[in-house]
Amino acid sequence: MRRFACLILIFLASLSGVAQSQKPAEAAPYKNQTLPVERRVQDLLGRMTLEEKVAMLSGADWMQTVPNERLGIPSIKMADGPLGIRSWSGPSAQTNAAGARAQILTTSFPASVAMAATWDPEVVEAQGRAIAQELKALGRDMILGPTVNINRTPLWGRNFEGYGEDPYLTSRLGVAYIKGVQAEGVIATVKHFAANNQEFERHRVNAKIDERALNEIYFPAFKAAVQEAGVWSVMSAYNRLNDLYCAENPFLLTDVLRKQWGFKGFVVSDWGSTYSTANTVNAGMDLEMPGGEPMKVWLQTPRVQAAGNGGGWLASEKVLQEISSGKISRATVDENLGRMLRIMFISGLFDKPHVATGEVDTPEQQAVARKAATESIVLLKNTGDLLPLNTSKIHSIVVIGPNAAVARTGGGGSSLVRPKYSVTPLKGVQDRAGSQIQVSSVLGVSMEGEDQSKDTPAMREQLLNEAVGAAGKADVAILVVGRSSAVESEGFDIKSLDLPAGQDELIQAVAKANKNTIVVINAGGPVLMDKWIAQIPAVLHMWYGGQEGGNAIASVLFGDANPSGKLPVSFVKRWEDSPAYGHYPGENLQVEYAEGIYVGYRYFDKRHVEPLFPFGYGLSYTKFAYGDLRVSSSKKAGQPVEVPVGHGLGFERDAELALELAHDPRVERAATRHEDRRREAGPTGIAGLGQELAGIGRVVARKEVRVRAPRDARRHHRVRDLDDLGRPAQRRDPPPVDGLAEGAPHTNIVEWLLRGVEAVVLNRQRVVLAK
Ligand code: BGC
Repeated sequence: MRRFACLILIFLASLSGVAQSQKPAEAAPYKNQTLPVERRVQDLLGRMTLEEKVAMLSGADWMQTVPNERLGIPSIKMADGPLGIRSWSGPSAQTNAAGARAQILTTSFPASVAMAATWDPEVVEAQGRAIAQELKALGRDMILGPTVNINRTPLWGRNFEGYGEDPYLTSRLGVAYIKGVQAEGVIATVKHFAANNQEFERHRVNAKIDERALNEIYFPAFKAAVQEAGVWSVMSAYNRLNDLYCAENPFLLTDVLRKQWGFKGFVVSDWGSTYSTANTVNAGMDLEMPGGEPMKVWLQTPRVQAAGNGGGWLASEKVLQEISSGKISRATVDENLGRMLRIMFISGLFDKPHVATGEVDTPEQQAVARKAATESIVLLKNTGDLLPLNTSKIHSIVVIGPNAAVARTGGGGSSLVRPKYSVTPLKGVQDRAGSQIQVSSVLGVSMEGEDQSKDTPAMREQLLNEAVGAAGKADVAILVVGRSSAVESEGFDIKSLDLPAGQDELIQAVAKANKNTIVVINAGGPVLMDKWIAQIPAVLHMWYGGQEGGNAIASVLFGDANPSGKLPVSFVKRWEDSPAYGHYPGENLQVEYAEGIYVGYRYFDKRHVEPLFPFGYGLSYTKFAYGDLRVSSSKKAGQPVEVPVGHGLGFERDAELALELAHDPRVERAATRHEDRRREAGPTGIAGLGQELAGIGRVVARKEVRVRAPRDARRHHRVRDLDDLGRPAQRRDPPPVDGLAEGAPHTNIVEWLLRGVEAVVLNRQRVVLAK
């Protein structure tokens, strides 16, 4: 009897084997779009052989997953991210090389740090949508972005790819990007989880970070991506975090991401960042990339070996071996693969794979790139009102510098997009200046490392002389300086905060020859300006503005657009003032994040170090002034309180400025305490009251509009101090909203927001704080 039962079991098992290897009927539940996703996932898993499942845990090639023809499982086709779409045919060293085959030309959006300088989640969401539409037009399904790693040090080679130093701002923009992408049914990938804050030894370095700094600085943008944007995919980072590689780190991938935050999507490894089989699978790493033959060839190259990449650990034979040895359970394989299948169903990819319909680089997509580039430009200095350029008085302009006649659209590495066209600052100025103004251009100095023939002492002198001569003859000299994608890139950190070789000298010499010299910086973050800033009347930062950067800077120079970008990072006076100084890039492959939560403005305030320009800084062409604020508590709730502050201010000559504050009984208290609190403030005056950013919005000058600060601004809370033993103090209640603003609003919107200002009204020309 027993034997008979056994035979029946064997027979049934063989039947199910047959069933597994046959094509399933059209009516199979997993194909039924009306069924719940979970049911479809389980049904599909139940039809797959172990070999078929395991085959999907590692990629098919450079940028796609293994499909399953028998069951009709499509492959997920990816592309980098996050500044637009880069060719997926190989690593950036190949696809971005001059003369690369099979180029993919797509819209080049401003670098993410520029997007952050807009403080505008709407434009970031529009960027996400545009990228997703282009991706679908190219028949792809997943974008490897956004990058939400925090700018811990100004020397990180990839700062341009992230949203700056503040976790709140980064979260808001990361969420906006993901929402834009996923609204189109495209998979977004938030990266790199976690603490990928330097390129130096990124494949080997161990970042040692305390729990508080992780939770308050390095995790929030990932958490928001999961909980607020419902991101479908997370990419793990190359580095180790607290001793374990991120790709095999159960604390990160299981405890935090899944158990604490409830992440339901799948985790993909960064390209070549796996170093084990069972540990990686068991930690919750669902998909290893790249895979297949291209991965094997790539891993053999000396450059990749020297860099310390790892890969190939989730190849079928290795995983199957670990299953038979009992180190990986079949249930874990189901769980990991199930997460990827789930997203295929949820995103719609399974039922309707993207089949390359639609267009790339449409006027609408270009318009998003242009709007973002324009909004991102930060006016750092404008003494004597040299800007905007007065076209009725100017007859000649010379545009000088290594970034004048080249469109530096982004930093280097996997995010660099090749656009169909790009506008250089010179071209932007020429087009805008029109025929009445003569525009000429000289190089002045060549970009470091770009052209050896121009890098001899004799040539350098000749170029400098040409620049000085041309500047002396023109009414205005516009110097466009900064870095290039070869100087600032993924893969290595920036060598120095100084401008690349020869540029400081060029600025100094041109400034002597022409008092109307404007410096435009095109780089992914701060540069040191101490050698020339005092002599230069006007300075603008244009980040890497994407393909429309040249038009954007021209529209700001000529006053068609009011500069409204604000710094998403603090600009230091000298490298030694940086929060991570002394604890970067680490020793013996260990980097201690000793500054803890005191990253960016938190550090400058806490340590009373004065930055050159604080986080949130940015001038505009609007002039505001107000003062002598008195707020009476006799007003009823919701009634505006008006504080007129004289004449001659605002856009219009006789515009009056009033502050309108919603009544709050605490306001008066705050006003009387104000002086004391001012004294306590640190040098940035932003977080100087021990606060951290908790609300963002844009101020846009329009006619007759009421102003409201975003609700979030009221929820600001204190940066907690460490107690004497360096332990985190208990989180305190939020301080009362003080509803009080002071200082010049055009320099600092952030300050208003932090102080919970309700409304700001100019009688004729009002200012809007839009969400
Ligand atoms: C980068 C990722 C990128 C991947 C694929 C890696 O080197 O760190 O950000 O998505 O390559 O190109």
